[in-house]
Amino acid sequence: MKLETNDRPKFKSEASAKRFVGKFFNMKEMEVLSDPEKMPELAFNIPAYECKAGGHMVNLEGFICHECYALPDLDEDGKPLSQRGGRYKFNVVQEALYRRFEFAMNNPYFVDVMSYLIDKKIKRKFRWFDSGDLQSEKMLDDICKVCRNTPHILHWLPTKEWKIAERYITAGNEIPNNLDLRLSALKIDGDPPTKLAERLGLNTSTVISPEAWDKFIATRSKGIRCPSSMNENKCGDCEGCWKHEVKNVAYKYHGRKLIVIKGLSK
Ligand code: SF4
Repeated sequence: MKLETNDRPKFKSEASAKRFVGKFFNMKEMEVLSDPEKMPELAFNIPAYECKAGGHMVNLEGFICHECYALPDLDEDGKPLSQRGGRYKFNVVQEALYRRFEFAMNNPYFVDVMSYLIDKKIKRKFRWFDSGDLQSEKMLDDICKVCRNTPHILHWLPTKEWKIAERYITAGNEIPNNLDLRLSALKIDGDPPTKLAERLGLNTSTVISPEAWDKFIATRSKGIRCPSSMNENKCGDCEGCWKHEVKNVAYKYHGRKLIVIKGLSK
């Protein structure tokens, strides 16, 4: 399907937006947003296999990416070798993730479609990348445009792509006020990149082992301990990750889990 980029699409409904994207993939319609079980509302994801910084850390013991819940063990034919990765190990899920990846990377209407669907589907809180991470400054710029187009929505984007965020901001680009871009720590029990985050005007997040959890005093870093472990791994009413005044969010590490993801059947 070809459209001139100055011919901006207009959607009448969620279904029309999904059909519009589906045409680029020879599908009747495409499910664009993801539905992670923990989150109060919908999200967007791409394959963890495409993480750039994460791709270097995934083989290193002690690094958070080594324990990635979205990265299944697959053989060269794509068959699962273990239970790791939960539903992410199914071909149909990986295919959906790769369509979203292609859509985010190369479709000139990514900003239009995402802005429309978020405005239509989200009441208050949107999460970027329940799987995967930023790929480039262009992708971050597109996401910032979506945030500006949806000023009534709070957006949260946790990233290990510190360099992309740093290059983008030091080049003079602004992060919209309704986006909480959080620089994630790289290691379990590792320090968050507080100095860099402060210099860039961003927040941070970190992962704490069960052994260190009880001793961890979140308020020392003007932060909070994520309460989801006391709430069946759900956010509920908590908005900590979306709030600028929460400088650091500490998550309790539970070991590799089988994560259930809804809404990835297409
Ligand atoms: S801190 Fe709150 S918003 Fe963030 S993941 Fe935990 S429960 Fe959800």
